[in-house]
Amino acid sequence: MSRTKLIAALVGLAAIALVGTPTATAEPRQAVRTIYYDASRAAELAPLVDQAAQIWNTGVTSVRLAKGTGGVSVSTAQNGPAPGMASCVGCTRGTITFYRNQITQSGAGPLRVVVHEFGHILGLNHPSDIGNCDKVMAGGRCDNAQPNAQELAAVQRFWSRGFAGVVPGGGVDDSRIFDVPALVGA
Ligand SMILES: [Zn+2]
Repeated sequence: MSRTKLIAALVGLAAIALVGTPTATAEPRQAVRTIYYDASRAAELAPLVDQAAQIWNTGVTSVRLAKGTGGVSVSTAQNGPAPGMASCVGCTRGTITFYRNQITQSGAGPLRVVVHEFGHILGLNHPSDIGNCDKVMAGGRCDNAQPNAQELAAVQRFWSRGFAGVVPGGGVDDSRIFDVPALVGA
């Protein structure tokens, strides 16, 4: 919105407030939820974090990943229990940690791992068809980093519900997700 339009809108709101026009009949408008991520401790994976955010932002409109602090803190370490770990599913505050050695050992594409962990933050769990390269949440020794239409729709729905379904819980176990062979024919 341009500055002029914003001012016009504010003036309009003030006018409505002054005359006391009831606004209850107005269409409820769902605000876009913004989740801030801080990749300052993601080391060499920081560019992939930005790319992953861009991929999700391109596919959904009900939620937006934006650079900033106070939201999801992303860091990279050498060794851990899984290629990546997200501290929560469907949350605006939390942590994501990536582990270099486990990414390499898994055989999955690094960007796929990054997009996957953000998928958890955005509300997605693992599907039943682990190894399906078409789904970024299915892990597998795959390179594809583009969520499929189903995954995008699920995220879109999740954040369109006005947060009703958000239950910030524990993280998920990604220790045996990415080293699963890619499903043949997927
Ligand atoms: Zn996972």
